[in-house]
Amino acid sequence: MTTSDLIPEPSSRTLRIFAFDPALSAQYDTAHIAEITIAIHWEKNLLPGPIGEYIEVIDIDPASGAFYKPIDLNDPRILAQDGLAPSEVNPQFHQQMVYAVAMTTIGHFEQALGRVALWSSREKDGDGKGEFVRRLRIYPHALRDRNAFYSPSKKALLFGYFPVGIKDAHNTPGTLVFTCLSHDIIAHETTHALLDGVHPQFNMPVNPDVLAFHEAFADVVALFQHFSYPGVLRNQIARTRGNLANENLLGQLAQQFGSASGRGRALRDALGETDKETGEWKPKKPDVHALDYTSEPHARGAVLVAAIFGAFLKVYRARTADLYRIATEGTGVLREGEIHPDLANRLATEAARSAEQVLQMCIRAIDYCPPVGITFGDYLRAIVTADFDYTQEDPLGFRLAFVESFRQWGIHPTGMRSMSVESLLWPTGETAIKETGIRTRDVKAGDEFYAAGALDTVYDLIETAREAGATNEQLAPLKAKLNDLSVELSDLAFQDEAIKLALNKKMDLDFEPWTLDSDRYQTFDGARKNIPRIFDWLVMGKGRILTPAFGLVLNQNDLPRTVIGSGSSGGYGSVTVQTVRTATRRSLRGAPMTDLVVDILQRRRGYFDPDKQKKLDQSDTIDLNDNGDFQYYAGCTLHLNPATMEVRWVIRTPGTIADDAQLERMRRFLIEGGLEPGNAFDLVDKALHTREPFALVHNAVED
Ligand SMILES: [Zn+2]
Repeated sequence: MTTSDLIPEPSSRTLRIFAFDPALSAQYDTAHIAEITIAIHWEKNLLPGPIGEYIEVIDIDPASGAFYKPIDLNDPRILAQDGLAPSEVNPQFHQQMVYAVAMTTIGHFEQALGRVALWSSREKDGDGKGEFVRRLRIYPHALRDRNAFYSPSKKALLFGYFPVGIKDAHNTPGTLVFTCLSHDIIAHETTHALLDGVHPQFNMPVNPDVLAFHEAFADVVALFQHFSYPGVLRNQIARTRGNLANENLLGQLAQQFGSASGRGRALRDALGETDKETGEWKPKKPDVHALDYTSEPHARGAVLVAAIFGAFLKVYRARTADLYRIATEGTGVLREGEIHPDLANRLATEAARSAEQVLQMCIRAIDYCPPVGITFGDYLRAIVTADFDYTQEDPLGFRLAFVESFRQWGIHPTGMRSMSVESLLWPTGETAIKETGIRTRDVKAGDEFYAAGALDTVYDLIETAREAGATNEQLAPLKAKLNDLSVELSDLAFQDEAIKLALNKKMDLDFEPWTLDSDRYQTFDGARKNIPRIFDWLVMGKGRILTPAFGLVLNQNDLPRTVIGSGSSGGYGSVTVQTVRTATRRSLRGAPMTDLVVDILQRRRGYFDPDKQKKLDQSDTIDLNDNGDFQYYAGCTLHLNPATMEVRWVIRTPGTIADDAQLERMRRFLIEGGLEPGNAFDLVDKALHTREPFALVHNAVED
């Protein structure tokens, strides 16, 4: 044994960063908190770049043709001093900064979901199977522009830089602003990429909330990450005397960018805004109508961010009420002047805990969203259900705080009769089945069991043949038989027994729980291998009789002809199992459990002309090369217990694929922009042809 074997691998790497951005280090009153040292997950084989397991920093500046030497974070001189010192002029520090903040953001995401993060796969032509993307590319100096974005097609983060054009107390004309030195902009763009990795369909703007949700989610992660930096948090608590609803840096996003581009003190502020006339900061007041007149994604997203921040403030106030009572001897009024450092520390601890829980709730919720067309109301249901799944008890009232704050901002799911926490939970499999009216009818039990039994046999045969390495061609006749039988079974009235059988059918899913220690490629590959198995269960197997409860339409007679794959026998081709992933939750007694999360989609060609739609919906022949003017999607996300195939939660899109009213809503949104008729053509064009939907600002020259 050599001595090096006795040295344990470090668990983290410490690096220095700008806590917010360089502007705060240049200001006297914030300079002492502007630079911090953070610990990130230790990557053993980190290469110069840095190039690690998740990201690859590439520092080429196309505008100047410069290629900056990549930083080697394993250089002993750099290791020994916690990375390079924060610097605006050293490009190698810029590389360190984007690496450190992106890895921190990935860390928060993985902690909340309990599994390794994957980037969205790269589409290859034709085969419909995405290619594994190991590393997200980060270009710290990609463009000379007042912008930054995540590009879903390039699988890259592109950061711009620009000279300051204004002269005021905070800006000197001609100095450069680097978006890659803004903690918030890096965290925001990384979050876009992480969300895209789970929900690639969330970049399709099928209603006004989808892109706004992407923006809000990215802001929420960036904002709540501030609370995990103890020095900054204590300082801001002391400054606001513990009242985090007052103006403070924690609730603001990208100060330097905002100020240098003439947008006020920050790009966005979750808590308040500066009055344009008086220049004074005023707290934002909840407004139930805020969404009625806001359609631009960042502005609309800001409403969701304010609602989430509001929920955080409610919990924080409740958790610190006792501390205030002690500190004020029951009067509730703090003495003037600075608060006691012990009180500041205790308040900071409570703020950090509340913020961490709010952030985790927000991230965990993304496994409980519909696969396409998310609305803010859906997201509220997702937060409540995900948290309920994770911990049944909620002694501090986090769920209620969310519901109340969302209600104050006018966010609610459509068609709900009550806004109680309980009624906001998504339907369980059992409820969805009952609601759909799949129930006992007087049929000859014998027929039913014949079909169910035969189905079981054929199903097992297919599994055996598949394990023995049978090709798809060899499996085809068996699959055809299975299909006939399941059609037969679904045409029979549904017996409770048959439903029970379907619910309890043991599937030989070949899956490894997807954890924080999993190999990322194997996870990707394993998830993809399970797609055909879930598909068989759903379309040709025991799951089929439950499809009406999932909001899926498989019966050929019920499918409009514009539905893609509607002509296939048994509706076989009209359904796509988009992704299969695993999610952890805790059982009633606190043990960790693994569920399967399955996203299922149906697609339909949509036409701007309703008459054309009607005609083609009933037409016998469909030109397979015709993609329509737009695509309308419907489907569901299912949470399944993989051991029993019990359906735990059913999360449906508002309408089925055959729902003409929903299709019309999407058509109207695309044509009229949903809200602002004045922008009609502009919005259609944007919605359909946005090449980079996640730009930091959509109109950089508006000021
Ligand atoms: Zn964005």
